[in-house]
Amino acid sequence: MIEDLNPPDWLPVLNRWVQKLGAQRSLLLLCAAVWLLALAISQLMISLLGQGDRWVAAVSASVCALAITGGLGGLFLRLIVHLEQSQLRLTRFATLDPMTGIFNRRHFLNLVEREWAAAQRYDMACAMLVFDVDHFKCVNDAFGQRCGDLLLRRIAEASSETLRQADVLARFDGEVFILFLPHTDPLGAVDVAERIRERIEGLNFCWNSHSLPVSVSVGVAALQNHHLTLDQLIHDAEDALYLAKMAGRNCVRAGAGLLSGKLGGVFSN
Ligand code: GH3
Ligand code: MG
Repeated sequence: MIEDLNPPDWLPVLNRWVQKLGAQRSLLLLCAAVWLLALAISQLMISLLGQGDRWVAAVSASVCALAITGGLGGLFLRLIVHLEQSQLRLTRFATLDPMTGIFNRRHFLNLVEREWAAAQRYDMACAMLVFDVDHFKCVNDAFGQRCGDLLLRRIAEASSETLRQADVLARFDGEVFILFLPHTDPLGAVDVAERIRERIEGLNFCWNSHSLPVSVSVGVAALQNHHLTLDQLIHDAEDALYLAKMAGRNCVRAGAGLLSGKLGGVFSN
């Protein structure tokens, strides 16, 4: 679909009139306008081509039909295209983070709430990862906000490339990303976390010919008996992220007791 998201100039005017008159009166008015237009065109044809001729009547009727169908058909087609584009824009606005193009927090929570309910009902494994760019403020301070924004986009792209289709990635808040992994046990989740960490560490990120080292710290939580709500699972992943930051950053940490009773989180660079 064409990406012309500006509405045609006449659309708001038309909309205002329809709102003012109501649907029924607008339809009546439209019928009256079409009728008058048809009458005017046929009269014009008859006066141009001669009166009382059957052919003149037939030609004028055809011209009326063509002119009106063409005019109104074009109008409706434009309206349909415009409505579809507006719908697309609204959907994007409601679901995607405008800067990185991945899901926004609200849509993530909506999607994952359903997955979470299914995982709980059928006792299926699932996991949550929260990862945060290390020393991101320094990047902004040293190279500016635009550089920071570009780095966030590159991190979102790189993380997306490592995922399965069912995984749900979103920008959670500022430079914090969140990832829900359905049907994933704790070891699998740590594996994914480590893959993301390595992928981002290996990003060759340059800004104005400066090569900047990039890393993320990752917190992992997996569904356990004490998780009664999605918030609790996210909270555990955030706690694990805090452990990763405390451990010196650029590493993965899992919550205590997650990995078969061992103290979780022994994965670092
Ligand atoms: P840490 O390693 O502990 O995570 O340190 P940090 O510097 O990454 O974290 P801190 O919380 O001190 O700073 C985060 C910065 O991220 C501050 C905020 O201005 C910046 N930030 C948040 N959202 C955006 C954004 O959309 N674009 C840019 N460029 N910066 C952002
Ligand atoms: Mg940070």
